[in-house]
Amino acid sequence: MPLSDTIFPPQKSALLRRFTALLEPKDDAQITALARESAAITRRHFGKTIRLFAPLYLSNECINNCAYCGFSRDNAILRVTLDIASVVKEARHLAAEGFRNILLVAGEHP
Ligand code: SF4
Repeated sequence: MPLSDTIFPPQKSALLRRFTALLEPKDDAQITALARESAAITRRHFGKTIRLFAPLYLSNECINNCAYCGFSRDNAILRVTLDIASVVKEARHLAAEGFRNILLVAGEHP
């Protein structure tokens, strides 16, 4: 049984069938074809541009303990959560520096 049938039920729309087919294992030629198609679609929709996102760190508090992450719960670091005034100040600073796309970053914390 294909992997996709274990994730989604067999009665699915054409769009869902196409999506689940993308999740199936691929050989090198198929990966290359997918990469070419992806690049062509990206260029058609966005042109040859690079969009920069500036991270705005809202909080480094987190209840989880992912091994690769500096925000991990057991990591003995100073924990900081910005108040609204600080978030606005940071966002204005980034905007003044020319950034038009801001990536809000925070750990998972109630
Ligand atoms: S911030 Fe995200 S990646 Fe980092 S420990 Fe928390 S849940 Fe994991």
